[in-house]
Amino acid sequence: MRKQIAAANWKMNLSLDEAKTLLDQLLATAHNLTDHQEAIFAVPSIYIPLATQKLADKQNVFVAAQNCHSKSNGAYTGEISAPMFASVGVKHIVLGHSERREFFNESDAFLAEKTDAVLAAGSTPIFCCGEPFAIREAGTQNSFVEKQLINSLFHLSTDQIVKVVIAYEPIWAIGTGKTASNEQAQEIHAYIRSLFATKYGQQIADQISILYGGSVKATNAKEIFSQPDVDGGLVGGSSLIASEFVAIMNALK
Ligand code: PEP
Repeated sequence: MRKQIAAANWKMNLSLDEAKTLLDQLLATAHNLTDHQEAIFAVPSIYIPLATQKLADKQNVFVAAQNCHSKSNGAYTGEISAPMFASVGVKHIVLGHSERREFFNESDAFLAEKTDAVLAAGSTPIFCCGEPFAIREAGTQNSFVEKQLINSLFHLSTDQIVKVVIAYEPIWAIGTGKTASNEQAQEIHAYIRSLFATKYGQQIADQISILYGGSVKATNAKEIFSQPDVDGGLVGGSSLIASEFVAIMNALK
């Protein structure tokens, strides 16, 4: 079975004390991850030492970065590179979140470079894609997402693409309380998988985890994750509440 993943995206939230409390609450709540399940915590970079130390003994639990630069080092004030994250044990990096695409003008081409950088560092990109509401209303979401994937990922080799985790996040569902229906999620996840099957073969496509993101919470995680092509979720708001996120981890297939 391909990996089923509950990924928390804390975004730019929590003070140090709040971060400590949340991690302690998560640690205090029993949750069982099986061999094919993972929990990933994309915390603000400044809390990475804290999170890696607190979660060190946890099986199948990883700390992630929310972004990185495409270069390894150099005169890029304020940036952090993929090899730097790897050097502190952070080997999962979220790339192309819609907030970075929107507020930091990250283009498909730049995200292709960042993906290369993360893979070159021996790490796992969690690559986000997804359409705005107007595109969903027009019914052209499949071709919109297809273009994002082709532009940023389809130059990768077979060996590289199997290392990428995809997060499909319809922008209209992020932080809005609106969730794609089970059918909408399954339909586009199956479409995304079919794109990888056409390009890399079905056997490779079947190994790629495709997470759903957009207002996942304790009450809807189980039914969304039960869809055959949904392999877990990337979770924003609900990842800041320990009981919610534990329920989401427990909803993994
Ligand atoms: C996200 O930030 O990736 C996300 C899906 O946020 P939320 O769960 O709050 O919609």
